[in-house]
Amino acid sequence: MPIHHNTPNGVAYLTITRDELASCTNNRYPICDECLMGLSPGEDVTLVPVLNMAYCQRCAKAVLATIGQLSGYDKIIEKRCLQAYLNTFEQMKKPADATREPK
Ligand SMILES: [Zn+2]
Repeated sequence: MPIHHNTPNGVAYLTITRDELASCTNNRYPICDECLMGLSPGEDVTLVPVLNMAYCQRCAKAVLATIGQLSGYDKIIEKRCLQAYLNTFEQMKKPADATREPK
């Protein structure tokens, strides 16, 4: 279950597991978008929706510290990206049949 946080500058990020990242991206072997190392099963991952990037915990702190404030259109994009990821994670919780339209 993703945990929503904000940086001191108010930029949204999510703490998810490596397995949640693998499922939502259909990538069985996700990597950190900073150090490019493979993420380990069960490892916590920091996902920054507005950047569409995911980071291992070793890189996340440094990366989050470099993200400045967003304003105007960027803030609108951020909100939509965050909601899209949250919707995806919500859909992943449902059994496959629940996503089908009734006949
Ligand atoms: Zn990393």
